Amino acid sequence: MNVAAGANIAAVCDSALASRRTRTQTATTVCQSGAGFKTARLQTGEFSSVAGGEKYETDVAIVGAGGAGMAAGIEALDAGARAVVFEQDSQLGGAAIISGGGCLIVGSPLQAENGIHDTPDLAFKDWIEWGGPSTDVIWARYYIEHSLHDLYHWAEGLGVKWVDMKVQEGNSVQRWTRPERNGLGLMTGLIAGFRKRGGEIVPETEITGLSLESGCVTGLQGRNTRTGESVAVRSKAVIVATGGFNSNLEMVLRYNPALSNDKVLEGSGRGSTGTGHELIRRAGGYLTHMDLVLRVCHARLPRPRAAPRSRVPPGARQHMGQSAGPPVPQRVDVGRQLR
Ligand SMILES: Cc1cc2nc3c(=O)[nH]c(=O)nc-3n(C[C@H](O)[C@H](O)[C@H](O)COP(=O)(O)OP(=O)(O)OC[C@H]3O[C@@H](n4cnc5c(N)ncnc54)[C@H](O)[C@@H]3O)c2cc1C
Repeated sequence: MNVAAGANIAAVCDSALASRRTRTQTATTVCQSGAGFKTARLQTGEFSSVAGGEKYETDVAIVGAGGAGMAAGIEALDAGARAVVFEQDSQLGGAAIISGGGCLIVGSPLQAENGIHDTPDLAFKDWIEWGGPSTDVIWARYYIEHSLHDLYHWAEGLGVKWVDMKVQEGNSVQRWTRPERNGLGLMTGLIAGFRKRGGEIVPETEITGLSLESGCVTGLQGRNTRTGESVAVRSKAVIVATGGFNSNLEMVLRYNPALSNDKVLEGSGRGSTGTGHELIRRAGGYLTHMDLVLRVCHARLPRPRAAPRSRVPPGARQHMGQSAGPPVPQRVDVGRQLR
């Protein structure tokens, strides 16, 4: 089982583009388990094998209504499939809707308007240098070459307006491109686009397991978080797009034991608890790059005199990825303090 969409801590644009790739890449586990599927809720009793509860049948069942889930849903609908998205929260949009929404776009009209010359080769060079040996070069090249059409123009087609750019670490030119109203603007466009195409979103539905038949994923099991009622889904394809796990400290430390030596303050989307990773693992799937946790710290750095070589101005946000050096030894203000 190959999980590209949302099961890692992909950034919002990265996960959206990864989801859009599912048409050509095997990012879902597919079983042909019958014809004549209907999208939407069925009457109790239509599933002979499961008693009671809510029941759905569809072509593509998607877990998570964040950036990856909505992009995957739009792609499925545009390809002629029926799609239903199951979201545990009463609010849609996941971490993506509270995010900055900034996407790295290469060769955009906005760059040209601002006199920035950018090419896929330059972006690739930047990312390989920054990412080091852990870089997924195939995905990096794919993303870079598709960011303009499959992300920038595609999102514009959904009503998203790209408004400005800023420098992002690891990039030699301005590529980080911000949508109007940040993640809210981006996700409003994606959610509306999904619904406009006839996609269905089922909120307050936590998916707790993948259904397996003869080694194939044939659907989902879950529960309505408001009523407690069970939910059963039968589908030809399943996409797990449940986001990251940065709001699950136990999991962060399990995959990054070295962080136990530091003062760790977790904080991400409230649904970023890694439940999808567990669903995949339990169904026999494999997870990759679990140790690569992005640490975004709002750091109070020492006074400039005490740290003359600091690359980050006082009060600035510092992305402390693998190449950005050790955590700042002073005070770190991020979300809530857990250790
Ligand atoms: C403050 C902040 C700012 C950020 N700014 C940027 C930025 O500017 N640019 C950028 O690229 N990235 C940014 N990010 C990161 C970005 O938000 C995430 O990488 C992105 O949202 C991941 O998209 P996703 O669809 O995979 O997950 P999400 O958007 O988190 O969506 C996952 C959804 O799945 C749901 N879910 C989880 N488990 C289950 C389950 N078992 N059953 C049903 N539903 C479930 C969750 O409730 C959630 O709605 C930011 C993150 C934060 C927190």
